[in-house]
Amino acid sequence: MTNSKKLRTWLDKFNSEQPLLIAGPCSAETEDQLLSVAHELKSSVSILRAGIWKPRTRPGNFEGVGAIGLKWLQKAKQETGLLTATEVANPQHVKLALEHDVDVLWIGARTTVSPFMVQELAEILEGTDKIILIKNPVNPDLALWLGAVERFYAKNVKNLGVIHRGFSSHNQSKYRNNPEWQIPIELANNFPDLPLICDPSHIAGRRDLIDTISQTALNLHYDGLMIETHCSPDEAWSDAKQQITPKKLLNIVNHLKVRPTTNPANEFKTNLSKLRAKIDVFDRDLINVLGRRMKIVEEIGLLKNKWDVSILQNSRWNEILQNVIEEGKHNNLSEDFIITLFKAIHQESIDHQGDILG
Ligand code: PEP
Ligand code: MN
Repeated sequence: MTNSKKLRTWLDKFNSEQPLLIAGPCSAETEDQLLSVAHELKSSVSILRAGIWKPRTRPGNFEGVGAIGLKWLQKAKQETGLLTATEVANPQHVKLALEHDVDVLWIGARTTVSPFMVQELAEILEGTDKIILIKNPVNPDLALWLGAVERFYAKNVKNLGVIHRGFSSHNQSKYRNNPEWQIPIELANNFPDLPLICDPSHIAGRRDLIDTISQTALNLHYDGLMIETHCSPDEAWSDAKQQITPKKLLNIVNHLKVRPTTNPANEFKTNLSKLRAKIDVFDRDLINVLGRRMKIVEEIGLLKNKWDVSILQNSRWNEILQNVIEEGKHNNLSEDFIITLFKAIHQESIDHQGDILG
């Protein structure tokens, strides 16, 4: 898959024909629970994940078994040969994880939001040859994610990768964390050789979306998947709704299609360039129409200025939204997409009118 586009990275140690698979429970719960899932996963995945310290949004939920879980991870590694991975959020976690020979340390979404914490972790891990994976921050802020990668590179941490686990949003959606695919794509544009892994479990928050999100990630040439897996998902102590059994994981993985980035056939190349030329025309048209629309918005700004009327008129905004959602339906465009698009257009219009009204 994508590894071909990469320079030599730590990914080369794994089978480059297939996406790297990281699986295991959200949390290590008991020694038996971890060992049984590890044995069921040993022939289908490369890395066993398990949270030991769980950063919960609110207190009162299961916060992880703590350092004792590292002994279970170590045992799972000895018995199965799987590499192990856990989340670290402070220098003490790092120290303990390294003492227990954990192979992959990941930085959680609630840690990536804090440059102080990221800097502290980068410093304690300076020069390490462990694999360090940085999850996206909880909020859709590309700069924070880029900043975390830069802080680790600056400390000479070479075996870096990133995990896309989606972004929280106040809008209702079918996802627990909206994928906002354009953000990881933009990150990959900045760091083309940085391995990119998708965590469909935390994006979905529910079992039934894991296969489609995984396939989308592979279509976008991600390098791997991290999927929460538990022998009795319904009884899991954390994230029960999104965990799947090892059997289900295998089923999903066997149905995923890993497509090459291109095909040398002339028919494919000719048709693709014809279709792309059409897209380019539509994109130009879209921008021109938006520009013409904005001129009208500015005329309205001048009118409001002359007659001393405020910019924001909620009833008009709701009317526009209803009209375009309806129009969207006839064009097979989802309500979520139309709302996101028109919120952006509306914001730009408010900014332009704001300049006029001062
Ligand atoms: C996890 O992987 O179990 C986890 C807590 O993830 P995130 O930091 O993405 O919420
Ligand atoms: Mn989880």
